[in-house]
Amino acid sequence: MKQKVLIVGAGIGGLATALRLAKAGYEVEIVEKNGQAGGRLNQIKKNGFTFDTGPSFFSMSYEFAEFVHDCGIDMPFEFVELDPLYSVNFSDNPQKNYHLYKDIDRLAEQFKDLEPEFKAKMEKYLDKSGQIFNDTVDIVIKNNFDSIFDYMSSLMQVNPVHLPVLTRNFWNQVSRNFSSKEVREILSLVAFFLGRTPFDTMAIYTLLSYTEFKHDGYYNVKGGMYQIVVGLVRELEKAGVKITYNTEIVDYETKNNDKEISHLIDSTNHVWRADTYVINADAAVWRHRIFKRKAFSTARMNRMQWTMGYLTFYIGIKGKLPHVNHHNYYLGSNYKEYANKVLSEPGTLEKPYYYVNVVSKHNPDCAPEGCESLFFVCPVPNLLHKTDWSDKDDVVNSIIDNFSQRIGQDIRPDIVSRTVYTPEDWQQQFGLYKGSGLGLAHTMMQIGAFRPKNHDERYKNVFYVGASTIPGAGLPMAIISSKLVTERVLKQLAKP
Ligand SMILES: Cc1cc2nc3c(=O)[nH]c(=O)nc-3n(C[C@H](O)[C@H](O)[C@H](O)COP(=O)(O)OP(=O)(O)OC[C@H]3O[C@@H](n4cnc5c(N)ncnc54)[C@H](O)[C@@H]3O)c2cc1C
Repeated sequence: MKQKVLIVGAGIGGLATALRLAKAGYEVEIVEKNGQAGGRLNQIKKNGFTFDTGPSFFSMSYEFAEFVHDCGIDMPFEFVELDPLYSVNFSDNPQKNYHLYKDIDRLAEQFKDLEPEFKAKMEKYLDKSGQIFNDTVDIVIKNNFDSIFDYMSSLMQVNPVHLPVLTRNFWNQVSRNFSSKEVREILSLVAFFLGRTPFDTMAIYTLLSYTEFKHDGYYNVKGGMYQIVVGLVRELEKAGVKITYNTEIVDYETKNNDKEISHLIDSTNHVWRADTYVINADAAVWRHRIFKRKAFSTARMNRMQWTMGYLTFYIGIKGKLPHVNHHNYYLGSNYKEYANKVLSEPGTLEKPYYYVNVVSKHNPDCAPEGCESLFFVCPVPNLLHKTDWSDKDDVVNSIIDNFSQRIGQDIRPDIVSRTVYTPEDWQQQFGLYKGSGLGLAHTMMQIGAFRPKNHDERYKNVFYVGASTIPGAGLPMAIISSKLVTERVLKQLAKP
């Protein structure tokens, strides 16, 4: 009889692992708390509009290519490279938009009056970022570690020339290369994609500048990001994987002298049995809430470094926004002060920085004819730092007012659909600790062998995949995570 694997959670990490294991010949079943698959990579359909809920583009497309190759399928969705990657607008010069092209000459043209010798400086900066990327990605990111010793031995293989970078933060590394405020701020924005700020993100993550500008760029998915999920679910159906929705696992029982899980129990007391369990719920939250581990007690969870929360809102408007690009960042004039407060001070949301994605720009099916669907993301403190969200509509209204002023078009009378998610909603819907958008932060003591492991400490038939285990947050990382956990599961199942 086939060995059975039960996967808890239909986020991208869970879906990708399910397909890998089904293709490897195992019987796979998924249980998901929500009514549809995707986790944070989700979709809202409302008033004739379609919105992606979380991710709006992805990098490292070759990880998806490797995944479909491993599974022996064709790419189940279509993706398109972004050019420009995104646009940036500053409040002290709102008429001007900087367009971030991968083409270095076009990029240099944008900054010729601001940053002398931009091209040479950018080439030098990207060379270094590229070296960091190439010297770490296979050793540190795409590896299972069996122990801290094993991890440390791998780190020793990293070229020592990068050691000084370990002593700097992202902002310092960018500032060593560029002098203008605008260039420094624009190039360090990518640190926010890791859920922290450039001032508390390690400089080794400047490797992300290489991935965005030089290596592989960013990609959109035709029809919206949710088509990734639609495509994966279709492949899972073909592979005979069953997904049961609206099923939240709340408890478990053990066997073999407490060495293995015998079954999981959902909130209606239904029992779910398998030989092996892969948890796609947040790896730290699961150990805290379900296994009630000491190392993940409330006090310890609160002491861990969590990523920021996100206030996201999904706006449908009558009319088009011809002058607004697909991906846009709207920054204020107090970057450092803002960044230093945004993670922890609840009263900082008067003039927030925000991102706007005009989803319908290249995906006309996402809005009724003559309309536009907009997705706003504003970095905010998570629920450890701001517990009261009764002011959410004030914050949203202030952003919509600011956006209208900056684009020179008042969208307020044209709004026909409005949905707001605060960190409370992100917590409640997807089980994110304190509404922390990307899970555990990527600090030195929370990456590699120090991140919650992808195999359980006590139960030998329990494994983990997703953002809070290795290697970390983001869609390509979830795909890598699915590969790493599959290796672990297969190794375990091959044991006599
Ligand atoms: C606002 C926002 C914007 C983002 N933008 C980008 C971007 O542009 N590009 C990018 O690459 N990444 C982006 N990310 C990050 C990306 O969304 C995540 O890293 C990725 O989707 C995480 O996938 P996952 O499989 O780890 O977990 P999740 O998507 O969180 O999936 C876990 C699943 O487990 C389910 N679950 C939890 N507990 C239980 C339980 N007890 N029982 C049953 N089911 C359970 C949840 O409901 C969920 O469906 C963004 C994230 C956010 C929040």
